[in-house]
Amino acid sequence: MRILLLSDIHANLVALETVLRNAGDFDQIWCLGDVVGYGPDPNECIKTLRAYNNLVCVAGNHDWAVLDKVDLEEFNPDARRAVLWTRDQLDIQNLDWLHSLPDSFRTDHFTLTHGSPRYPIWEYVLTPATARVNFEYLDTPIGFIGHTHVPVIYRYHDDDDTVTAEPLPEDIPVPLDNSRLMINPGSVGQPRDGDARAAFAILDFDTMTLMHHRIEYNILATQLKMGQANLPMRLITRLSYGW
Ligand code: ZN
Repeated sequence: MRILLLSDIHANLVALETVLRNAGDFDQIWCLGDVVGYGPDPNECIKTLRAYNNLVCVAGNHDWAVLDKVDLEEFNPDARRAVLWTRDQLDIQNLDWLHSLPDSFRTDHFTLTHGSPRYPIWEYVLTPATARVNFEYLDTPIGFIGHTHVPVIYRYHDDDDTVTAEPLPEDIPVPLDNSRLMINPGSVGQPRDGDARAAFAILDFDTMTLMHHRIEYNILATQLKMGQANLPMRLITRLSYGW
């Protein structure tokens, strides 16, 4: 069984469709939240995801902000403007769908959250120190997280109770057996690791590996749509740099 692991799509339909076209066969989609916010196609991105029956999706801070479930003061002015714009765009079915998203999802082996196992909606796991605290809140061997838009593996070492950060290699399978890991697959719709290509990962249950991929998409097409929607210029330009 193969799972397509997505995070932080951020209403970037061109990026999402490019990932879906290039991901190969998969049996399920696991999505780590922030389906909307920033980008120009919130309804279309939700509709595209909802078309997959085998979809698991958890809520992110932007999803909740659109629903007025978090304080907009927590957002910077550009993000806030995009949240308000998104709120105006979404049709009722898609708002209902966002409302239905849980803040975490768990199987025997995996936990899915947008932010962290400790604070699923809001916490950024940006350092091994933060990851180490969060391993105490992770009840499964592997945690998948998003939110920072930066692909990374945090590895817990039983022998000395430490955590290290490793880059998530591109196109190389990462073994998941017998490890305690927290993995961020990167962002589909707004990468922030200096690489503008859309990020995603494939989780393969047969080999118990995870493979991270990057794919070029038509950034300009998304930027033109954002311009037409009068979304903030800084959000438009950052897509070119992946920052
Ligand atoms: Zn995000």
